[in-house]
Amino acid sequence: MLAVDGLTTRYGAITALHAVSLHVDSGELVALVGPNGAGKTTLLYTVAGLLRPAAGRVTLDGGDVTGKDPATLVDAGLALVPERRRIFRDLTVEENLRLAGITASTAERRQRLGEAKALVPVLDAKWHTSAGYLSGGEAQQLAVARALMSDPRLLLLDEPTLGLAPKLVDVIFELLVTLRGQGRTIVVVEQNARRALELADRGYVLRTGRIVAAGPGAALAARADLFAAFVGVGADLGEEADR
Ligand code: ATP
Repeated sequence: MLAVDGLTTRYGAITALHAVSLHVDSGELVALVGPNGAGKTTLLYTVAGLLRPAAGRVTLDGGDVTGKDPATLVDAGLALVPERRRIFRDLTVEENLRLAGITASTAERRQRLGEAKALVPVLDAKWHTSAGYLSGGEAQQLAVARALMSDPRLLLLDEPTLGLAPKLVDVIFELLVTLRGQGRTIVVVEQNARRALELADRGYVLRTGRIVAAGPGAALAARADLFAAFVGVGADLGEEADR
């Protein structure tokens, strides 16, 4: 469904991605892990059209979408849940979702709002609450629900469990599994690397802008060497791997 071929992205003189290639098949949950500064966010942003690559190709369902603007990519079925959620704090849950569904028809929007309530009951309970009053876990679920308002086939999530308590990390991971069960294709960037890999069908480990390991999620999660060397200090698995 998604193919990234030799993608190179630069910030001025800094090359953040060095000819990165990966693929994501339809219905897969793929985890992208690696230390801080590895280029994970840069990769998601380049795929989502927020950054222009200096070289390489991004194809979606076989069509070249390299360098296309984000709105075109949303129309093509892609949605990004950015790090730190970026929801509108002064708007209610409902208003946040309605805004995200602004390009849908009235009937589609109504249907998707209903789906959001069913998928995330905690949002239903806080439907008229300003998003600024939501807990971190609720706000993250709202960010995911917002991305779903365009009914994407491919969902990209940047650090969806960042700063959440362990119980809420579980809630977010369960949500991802549910979405995969609905047939959506998911790419998730995660600091909770082992958890994400265990859940994922496949994973990629990125380090200093290059893919350094790839394979089935469970197999990568079992590689203590990888985590000691690449994920390293401060990540949940680096510490375990050192024991
Ligand atoms: P983190 O987990 O810390 O978010 P990451 O793997 O997502 O890390 P990126 O944020 O993609 O990594 O950063 C990749 C590289 O690009 C890093 O060296 C970073 O310093 C650099 N970089 C990121 N954003 C910019 C920017 N706006 N201007 C210049 N350099 C940047």
